[in-house]
Amino acid sequence: MDRIYATWRSEWVQKLAGEADERCPFCSIVEAGLKDSESDKQNYVVFRSDTCFVVLNLYPYGSGHLLVLPTRHLSDLSDLTPEEKSDLWGLLEKTIRVAKYTYHPDGINFGANLGRSAGAGIPNHFHMHVLPRWAGDSGFITTIGDTRVISESLEQSYSKLVNNWNEVS
Ligand SMILES: [Zn+2]
Repeated sequence: MDRIYATWRSEWVQKLAGEADERCPFCSIVEAGLKDSESDKQNYVVFRSDTCFVVLNLYPYGSGHLLVLPTRHLSDLSDLTPEEKSDLWGLLEKTIRVAKYTYHPDGINFGANLGRSAGAGIPNHFHMHVLPRWAGDSGFITTIGDTRVISESLEQSYSKLVNNWNEVS
């Protein structure tokens, strides 16, 4: 598996840290999609449900790195309504099935980083990561602090995942 170094990622994280009051990138995606359905393609939104959506991570730790998150801007897991929780979990399961079908990984990491100190780039809008893993790649924690990305482009990942989303039940 080829990897490239993405040194801009640490710059991006630092930039975010200094701009905590700036517009939430996830809310921007949600709002852009309401105004213009084509924007979901540009923002790599794989699927939207009533209360949640699935989007490619623009700063992936590896190929097929997806985020599953509520549409509403909230940071605390406890603030999710029962409907959102059930929707989120259902989407998480489906995202994992689609990631397995698409990438045939040896394993999958899924989980959340709560708070910036725990590694969350956007701590104010709760989101869960789904990350395909292969034997021999580095550990999840090491990966978070690292700058490696696998060389599939976001466009390639996006078109595969959108097609497979409809194929996988
Ligand atoms: Zn938000």
